[in-house]
Amino acid sequence: MNLPVETLKRRSAAAHCDVAIVGAGLGGLVCAAILARAGRRVVLIDRAKRPGGRLQTANHQGFAVDLGPPLWEAPGLLEALAAAGVEDHGLVPLSSKEGFRLSIAAESGPEAPCPLPVPGAVPAPSILDAVRRLYGVQPRVFAGLGELYGELGDAAAAARESGRDVELSAWLAERGAEPALAAAMVRSAALLGAPDGARASVVSLATQARELAEGAPTHYVCGDTPVAGARGVVQALVDVVIEAGGELRLGTRAMGIAFESGRFARLALRREEVPFLEEVAAERCVLAVPSNELRSLLPAGPRGALERLLPDASLRELSVAWAVRGDVELPSTREGESPAVIRLVAPIRGEASVTAGATFVCATASAPRLAPGGHALLRAVLPVGFDTIGDAGEIERRVDGLRAALVALVPEVSEAVVWEHCWLGESPAAVPLRRPVLPLVAPSCSGLWLASQDVQMAGASATGVTGSAVAGRAVAERIVAEGSAAPEGSTVVAREE
Ligand SMILES: Cc1cc2nc3c(=O)[nH]c(=O)nc-3n(C[C@H](O)[C@H](O)[C@H](O)COP(=O)(O)OP(=O)(O)OC[C@H]3O[C@@H](n4cnc5c(N)ncnc54)[C@H](O)[C@@H]3O)c2cc1C
Repeated sequence: MNLPVETLKRRSAAAHCDVAIVGAGLGGLVCAAILARAGRRVVLIDRAKRPGGRLQTANHQGFAVDLGPPLWEAPGLLEALAAAGVEDHGLVPLSSKEGFRLSIAAESGPEAPCPLPVPGAVPAPSILDAVRRLYGVQPRVFAGLGELYGELGDAAAAARESGRDVELSAWLAERGAEPALAAAMVRSAALLGAPDGARASVVSLATQARELAEGAPTHYVCGDTPVAGARGVVQALVDVVIEAGGELRLGTRAMGIAFESGRFARLALRREEVPFLEEVAAERCVLAVPSNELRSLLPAGPRGALERLLPDASLRELSVAWAVRGDVELPSTREGESPAVIRLVAPIRGEASVTAGATFVCATASAPRLAPGGHALLRAVLPVGFDTIGDAGEIERRVDGLRAALVALVPEVSEAVVWEHCWLGESPAAVPLRRPVLPLVAPSCSGLWLASQDVQMAGASATGVTGSAVAGRAVAERIVAEGSAAPEGSTVVAREE
């Protein structure tokens, strides 16, 4: 008997649930955990064989090496995990003694590490002068820069919120900032970590300026749970989802979305080992995937509405981890200085172009289970462009530069390195200070939600892990608040969150 090709390719939907979630990264896991705990029937789908998305931890010679984020932004993160039922997350605040951002600005510069790259927050005149040299501007321009940062840092929450959509270049133009001052401000945004200073988000810049000035702990590192590394957080969330009755389908790729009368109806899925498409029918669907994956998943309507917001390409990240014998004494904050995670370090001769923007983190001081006794684990992360990732010689040059920067920073380390491990981030990494731009509700269709680091929400300027966790929480809580009835109407216009 000949069966119609359609029948062979497509089996009718056996599964039906309340919410189908695509993506078992942090955003999807938080979302699934909250929904499952609230009694919703949840199916969480991921094409990978392991949950966690970009949160992956490798075993390397007895060390747990986190291949993804080394720094987790503080505001909103623990609250999102608590809402998902995870209290024992093992995340610990990162003090200034343990982590810092290394920004290499020029071939020449100050000899010693300086505290903050935000002029308004620099305490000592000698350090102020050193930082000014890094900006390469006249004292008058530098003072103007301090005033602008003062304005940003002092802005009330409402004023900061009104600047949500404003890019730095537009904000400066609005103020009529003279070209030298505008250029210095753009440069400072780059020193704070924005790959494109002119397009840095003013909200993120203001938040960061305030946090740096106040010296509050701004980041966490993970690893101090019985399961070392980021996988401890992932495991805790997976446990909540499963215990609350949620279903986790790994090795299953979402291929497309079907709508009925403008409303989400079904997801088409493909499992690696199965030659036909499967379907899962649900009342709602959450796409907890990076924004560059949305193009292939979204149907024409919402894709068209979001097209100009979706990024074309993002940076990749080159990471290097070093296992070091003995205790590592990182340059610590001097007595009386306000603590800060982010520090500006002296330019390193000859390495300026290859190491600019690198972040160095030592997580072991806070999370001893990451490394065997008597060792420390250091990590450097460096954004690299797509033009670089296929060039082995260029990558080697950058690794050499990072190694040289590490030795310049902590000279005693050079004799104590046990091994070095390098890798490129497989997915686009969090770009600091990039403005989240996507709506929480997909436009032009009902019952379809977005939950990733690029989703913008009132009162939150987080990106990276925290952005995803906060977005996953927001989507889940909105769905719970809507009740179990299918969303009304055939069209939901994109709502500003
Ligand atoms: C090297 C590196 C360093 C980083 N450093 C930091 C840092 O210091 N601080 C910070 O905050 N952030 C950092 N990040 C970024 C951070 O890891 C991410 O922002 C965060 O983990 C994203 O979580 P997510 O759930 O939104 O997406 P992801 O973790 O990307 O999860 C999305 C999931 O969706 C799945 N998926 C995609 N398409 C489909 C499909 N069609 N069907 C089924 N499944 C699909 C993927 O397999 C993936 O598991 C870093 C990332 C990397 C790679």
